[in-house]
Amino acid sequence: MKTKGRREILERVREFVAPYRVTSGKGFRLKDFDPGDTGGLKSEAKPEAAEWLARGVQWLAEEQEKLYAQDRWAVLLVFQAMDAAGKDSTIKHVMSGVNPQGVDVHAFKQPSAEELDHDYLWRALRRLPERGRIGIFNRSYYEEVLVVRVHREILERQKLPPRLVGKRIWKERLEDIANFERYLARNGVAIAKFFLNVSKKEQKKRFLERLDEPAKHWKFSAADVAERAHWDAYMAAYEDAIRATATKEAPWYVVPADAKWFTRVVVAAAIVETMEKLDLAYPEVDAAKKKELAAARARLVRE
Ligand code: ATP
Ligand code: MG
Repeated sequence: MKTKGRREILERVREFVAPYRVTSGKGFRLKDFDPGDTGGLKSEAKPEAAEWLARGVQWLAEEQEKLYAQDRWAVLLVFQAMDAAGKDSTIKHVMSGVNPQGVDVHAFKQPSAEELDHDYLWRALRRLPERGRIGIFNRSYYEEVLVVRVHREILERQKLPPRLVGKRIWKERLEDIANFERYLARNGVAIAKFFLNVSKKEQKKRFLERLDEPAKHWKFSAADVAERAHWDAYMAAYEDAIRATATKEAPWYVVPADAKWFTRVVVAAAIVETMEKLDLAYPEVDAAKKKELAAARARLVRE
């Protein structure tokens, strides 16, 4: 792609994701973000959106090759959402074109006994991407201020010394998470965090679809339906978390998630934006290396 064309496209990408990007918690309110938003596009625009998605995926594949060759930056993509918001399928679509050798996806479930014997960031630290790689967290350490906050009994199982569990614990955790992300950013980990913002109504629809479709039954859990009773508590916890941890170095993207085709384009665009900021390029080959290559060629030709 020519440089000018590329720059123009990137500018459009930035504009496109701007309404969903949160880089400061100041004044952030979840209710300002509509889960049904499709950026003014009608569903007739689906084919065009699919085309953009395909282009975005292609772009990502190219950037990822450079990321790997350069071996300086790591990219961490964090996905958080209520059930059935489309985390899994979004990750699948957006990463469909990239070399699987350069990407690690990890799904964080309920912590194991071993994990509960450590501080809560321990298990996340062990899964951080190496330089040159993309790490995807399907759920993350944010669960520690979401599900754990909504269900106090989980906190009780965390074996913390009682005197450390006070009223300020959520504020403290959010502070620690923000500091942790700043530390990562300062070490060359580019972070983007996604909250797939599905509405309670759309979640119900998707649960019912799962019940209607035998092929989707494995994805259905009665516990997920029970969780709906805590919807408002979850939304309050998400709002608090985003407010406390949205920064320029580790922005949140609050992505409308009622229309999956739109969710995917926004996420792909946000990842393009994240990687583009890194100025990735193939390493320059120095004179000595060039000589070595020429010698290797001569030798092969002589064979
Ligand atoms: P899907 O349902 O699409 O397969 P999922 O991410 O919901 O994906 P599940 O196995 O259904 O996967 O759920 C994992 C559960 O683990 C979630 O309910 C999540 O809240 C919970 N969980 C994740 N991290 C923690 C944590 N640190 N403490 C307690 N529960 C956690
Ligand atoms: Mg689940």
